[in-house]
Parts: sequence; C-alpha cells; structure tokens
Amino acid sequence: MIREAKAGDLHPNGVLKELGFRYDSNNLYQQTIDAVLDAAEMLDLPHHLRLILAEPKTELMTHFPVRLDNGVYRLFKGYRVQHNNILGPYKGGMRFHPTVALDDIKSLAVLMTMKCSLSQLPLGGAKGGVQIDPRSLSEDELRRLTRRFTSALGDNIGTDHDIPAPDMGTNAQTMAWMADTYMNFHDSQNKHQSRAVVTGKPLKFGGSFGREKATGQGVVYAMEECLPALDIDIAKATFSLIGYGNVGSWTARLLTEQGSTLKAVMDHTGAIYNDKGLDAEKLASHVVSTGGIAGFEGGEAIDEETFYRTQVDIFIPAALEQMVCRKNAALLNCRVLVEAANAPVTPAGERILLGQGVTILPAILCNAGGVTVSYFEWKQNLQAETWEEKKVDKRLQKYTRAAAKRVTLAAEKFGCDLRTAAYCAALENIAEVYKLRGIFP
Ligand code: NAD
Repeated sequence: MIREAKAGDLHPNGVLKELGFRYDSNNLYQQTIDAVLDAAEMLDLPHHLRLILAEPKTELMTHFPVRLDNGVYRLFKGYRVQHNNILGPYKGGMRFHPTVALDDIKSLAVLMTMKCSLSQLPLGGAKGGVQIDPRSLSEDELRRLTRRFTSALGDNIGTDHDIPAPDMGTNAQTMAWMADTYMNFHDSQNKHQSRAVVTGKPLKFGGSFGREKATGQGVVYAMEECLPALDIDIAKATFSLIGYGNVGSWTARLLTEQGSTLKAVMDHTGAIYNDKGLDAEKLASHVVSTGGIAGFEGGEAIDEETFYRTQVDIFIPAALEQMVCRKNAALLNCRVLVEAANAPVTPAGERILLGQGVTILPAILCNAGGVTVSYFEWKQNLQAETWEEKKVDKRLQKYTRAAAKRVTLAAEKFGCDLRTAAYCAALENIAEVYKLRGIFP
C-alpha cells in the first residue's frame, strides 16, 4: 500500500501507530511488517493478532569481548530476535556481516515466522547475528567470537526453544562451533541430541545430506512450480544473479544443470557477463579460491548499471536486502524476479516492477528450502536417524510444491500479487493455531 506520511510522523498503519512507530520509509522492519499487516487487513485478522505480530516476542542484544590474534581485545555486538513461536520452537539464521543491525534482524525474524508458517513447519521465527566482517578475522578469531557469542546467548537458544542455522557470513563450521559450545554447557542425559541446537552443521557432526545446497534447491523447486504458468521453460531460460555465496552459487549450478543460461553475476567484488553463458561450477570454484567473482576468466567484467540492464528472463537477487531499490528496479530487463535473498526488493522497487508487468516470486516461498531441510536435520538429530539425500530432496520438493500451491490459491482467492498472497496463506495458518490455543492466560 502506498503511504502518504512524512518521515517522523506517527506511522499511518493503525496498529503501528498504536505501538508508537515513527514513519521511516527506508526502515526495513517497517517495510516488512507493513506488508504483513496489509495482508492481515485483507484477511480481516483480529486486532489482537495484528498487535502481537507487529513486534517480536523477544529482542536480545549482547556485547561481548574477544581477544584478537595480536593480543588486543575488541568488543562485539550480537543480536538474537525471537519473533513468534506459536507454531513451534524459534528457528532462524545467524548472520555475520558489518551491516547487521537490530531492525534488519527483526525484519528477518518476521520473515522466518511467515516462511515456517507458509511451509507449515512446526517452527517459529527468529534471526540473529554479529556486526562483523568475518573476512577481516582469522579462523582462530572467528572460533573465539562464535564460542563467546554462543555462551552469551546461554539458555536463550536450545533444542526445543530456539535453533539457529547459517546465514550470510556463517557456514557449517560456524554451526559446529556453536553446537560444541552449547554441548559443553548443557551436559544433559541426552547429550548426543543437544547438537540439534543448531542446524546446517557439517555432515560428520549431525548435519543432513542435502542441507548445504538446500536453499538453492528450494529456489529451483519453487521456480519449477511457478514458471510454467508464466510460460517460461527452465531448460531454455536465461538468468542473472546478485550474490554468488551459498544460495546464489547453488541456485546457479542447479539451474544450469537443467539447461538455463547464466548471463551475468554481481557480488561484492564486481560484476561479470558472458552472452553464451557463465560456467556455474567453475565460477563456484573460483569464488571458493579467491573470495569473489572478480577475475573470473570465463566472463568479461561489466559495471553495475550494465549488470542491472542485462536482458534475461529471470533475475535472481541472492545477496543483501533492499538491493533492488527504485533506481535499480527501473533498469531491470526481465520477466520474473525470483527472491532467493530475504527482502531484496524495496516497496518502491516493487511498485516499479509490478507496474512493468514483472512477476515477483516472494522470498518466503522461494528461499524456504534452507529452513525446511534444517527442520529435517533437527528431526534426524532428535530421532538419531540419517536420511539419504534422495529422501531429503523428495521431501523438500513436496513441501515446496504444497507451499507454492497455497500461494497460488491465495492469489486467486484475494486477487492480489504473490507476495501478499504468500503472507495471507501464512497468516491464515497462524490465526487458526492462535484460535485453537487462545492467548494465555
Ligand atoms: P553468503 O554469505 O554465502 O553469500 C552472500 C553473497 O552476497 C556473496 O556472494 C557476497 O559477495 C554477496 N554480497 C554481499 N554484499 C554484496 C553487495 N554489496 N553487492 C553484491 N553482492 C554482495 O550468504 P547466503 O547464505 O548465500 O545468503 C544470501 C541471502 O540468502 C541472504 O539474504 C540470506 O538471508 C538468504 N538466505 C540464506 C539461507 C541459507 O541457507 N544460507 C536461507 C534462506 C535465505
């Protein structure tokens, strides 16, 4: 919905006004919750549910010292935001990035609540992180930071309370350090089960087959469900990507395996182009060995504007939030935008794209593969089981198909865009559970 308010005014949304929000159109949390509340209005959700969902249940902020390799101590700021747990234990990634800030983490926690609900997982929504560029630390420093942060979180995480996972700047190794630290503090009778406190762990330490590629795999399954209705054949489609980390590189490898052509990629080191198609596997190896896409021999370097203007069928942001803003959206030359990253499109960017007839496949559908396979990993840990990759993939596909169907049905029922439809489907599920459980006491 277009808001007419000036920056600093009380927020024009009734619930946000009641909570004393001052309007800021650039604030990611306000952008996210505003869109969720628009869907709540469409569903005529009870006022008390809108109030509950408008703010996270818990916001934790902790400052903790870590000794660097040169003997100097540095103080770090860490966050964990637990948005809602009506459906089950909180679940969400841990991000290590220099721009990590409370409102962004709050926004990502809301998206986790919506994502788990849309996929009908028995999990709630959370997110956390540390304001740090992990590339600036040695491995020893990163390990000390991860352990100290985990101990600072204490009992605020737990196998049946809040279960972190990897996100930007963290990986399976980070999760192994988190699990090990937690296990050292929680010497329960079910010690082997306590590694279920985090997911996305290495295979040899309780990880699940298929978890590393899961988010990219989920993106591709969601595309397989939604693109035929838009008359796009994955085997012949062209695409470009922002971000070539976990999500971007797996999405690219899986799509090119099916015959799609990767025309252009941009990451924090630059942008590259190849009209005949970039080799996704070789590019992934190049990024692992050099830290970014710059210098890849299989493509020519291009500038940012040329990257955004590249003509493709599908544009896939898989990096930071809010990258497709008003300015960049106007440059795009695509038919579909697939949100592999969380909240990559600003409301102003979205209005431009929808106005140009571009279909946006929303993040809570497209990137739910990560949390879905995390849910499988958690189940396997608690039941001391190991599932084959085929079983993991098949189940992920089933969950993704069901979620995509819910979005399509809601879009037809409410006559709205796919993002609003995804929020409607997620909120309907949450509202039913609130109705059954009631509000304590
Ligand atoms: P990652 O750290 O593995 O990769 C991040 C990528 O973003 C890198 O290629 C980096 O170069 C790029 N990037 C960073 N800053 C940039 C900039 N200014 N311009 C262009 N590129 C930039 O992170 P990831 O795990 O792949 O996560 C990417 C997105 O997907 C995030 O929005 C994350 O929340 C979301 N996500 C991740 C998972 C998961 O399982 N990892 C699950 C769901 C959603």
